Amino acid sequence: MDVFRDLYQQLIIDHNKNPRNFCKLENASHSADGYNPLCGDEITVSFIEKDSIIENIAFMGSGCAISKASASIMTSTLKGMKVEDAKALFEKFHTLATTGESTNDMGKLSVLAGVHKYPARVKCATLAWHTFQGALNNSQEIIKTE
Ligand code: ZN
Repeated sequence: MDVFRDLYQQLIIDHNKNPRNFCKLENASHSADGYNPLCGDEITVSFIEKDSIIENIAFMGSGCAISKASASIMTSTLKGMKVEDAKALFEKFHTLATTGESTNDMGKLSVLAGVHKYPARVKCATLAWHTFQGALNNSQEIIKTE
């Protein structure tokens, strides 16, 4: 069984090879670290909130292709978005990753729908999002998927 056949669509390969917003963010107002012990993915998500808008967002870390691609797509999607809308999108993405159900306003995020068939991979795909949630609260604790 090739777990990756469903998952490694062109967009995921591209985001893994050339991750967007993969850098240290200076002057971040929010930041958190995340860890997925099941796979070993580590990530730091930082963003700058200004007037309730995510003005800039970036991530760093090391992990599998899915965790990296998901973080890359997430940061591309959230940049410039209202914080309230980003919170709502987290819920939608969580549903997408765990059930495969997508709404037509999810854009590139929907390429990750295939992960719901592989429970271990769901954590790789959602790590960046859980860490983003932690960053919203400026969590000092490492966000874990377990
Ligand atoms: Zn992973």
